[in-house]
Amino acid sequence: MKIKFPKTVRILSRTYEIGHVDKDGRNSLAYVNLREQYIFISQDMTKEEQLSSLLHEVLHIVYNVSGFDHISGPKDEESLVRLFEPGLFSFMKDNPKILRMFLHG
Ligand SMILES: [Zn+2]
Repeated sequence: MKIKFPKTVRILSRTYEIGHVDKDGRNSLAYVNLREQYIFISQDMTKEEQLSSLLHEVLHIVYNVSGFDHISGPKDEESLVRLFEPGLFSFMKDNPKILRMFLHG
């Protein structure tokens, strides 16, 4: 499904490009290349799956940019991202009024 994401997303003072081209050839449905600051989201998913995948990759960015990766390991990273992704997604999807409060105060 084609979703028109914004071209970029800002996270922790950094700008990441969002694209639908698997530049790294990872043959995965989604990933983030931290060095290139590129988030790949496959369009071979539903809209909800793509949005959830974007959130998933954002959480990977937070994990790494925060420096938590230095006191933890790769297994912990995926576990933590998978722990927070569905809860945050549900919170964001089911509470549009609160999200608007984040945007507009
Ligand atoms: Zn992951």
